[in-house]
Amino acid sequence: MALQPPSPLDPVIEDWQRALCVVAHPDDLEFGIAAAVARWTGQGKQVVYCMVTSGEAGIDGMPPEQTREVREAEEIESARVVGVDEVEFLRLPDGILEYGVPLRRAIASVVRRHRPEIVITNNFRESWGGESLNQPDHIATGRAAVDAARDAANRWVFHDQIKAGLQPWDGVRQVWAGASPRAQHGVDITDTFDTGVASLSAHRAYIAGLGWPGFDPAEFLEGMSRAAGSRMGIAHGAAFEVFSLRWGD
Ligand SMILES: [Zn+2]
Repeated sequence: MALQPPSPLDPVIEDWQRALCVVAHPDDLEFGIAAAVARWTGQGKQVVYCMVTSGEAGIDGMPPEQTREVREAEEIESARVVGVDEVEFLRLPDGILEYGVPLRRAIASVVRRHRPEIVITNNFRESWGGESLNQPDHIATGRAAVDAARDAANRWVFHDQIKAGLQPWDGVRQVWAGASPRAQHGVDITDTFDTGVASLSAHRAYIAGLGWPGFDPAEFLEGMSRAAGSRMGIAHGAAFEVFSLRWGD
């Protein structure tokens, strides 16, 4: 029996001005989404990054206090490379994030402050496709980001934030999960692929700490971007699962 070819990806919408990327760890965006961010900042769009943790449990041979400092600096640099000059760190505990109301509350506050039209997170399905299991912090953060995008609109949810001066924000149109195995949308990153590689390469200490001999950021990213690109008839693509928060979008 012949294998089914992967289904084509529809282009994501690009008629927006502000996006907020919310992920669990420094490096999560750089493993596949950063080149798309470079495309959008190149179009004059505004993109803000929010890291739920500082990835302080991510380097085996380095204590968390030191790792936090190193990884926050690396993330700020990798954001700068793709045209993002605002990076927030919520500093929740790396490795043991829990999906629930406190995480929704923390992210809703960020959404209310930055008022994005698009919220971008990474894959929060159980696996990356096939047998490769996803990580619990990613699952918790992605689920909470979808919920927080809606929570932000309701003044009676996390009302203490409204009393403290924030306004409800009902302007999030869609939440996108990068590299989801259920992605049906994508964006052309052919022109910004190299910028995405430079952005991942900024995570020097983290990549060294992984201890993957011969790890090549370009080769790694190319594996993903070629696969997504082939579903769009282009050289390099980034795939997203799209969750619409509004009718008709
Ligand atoms: Zn991660």
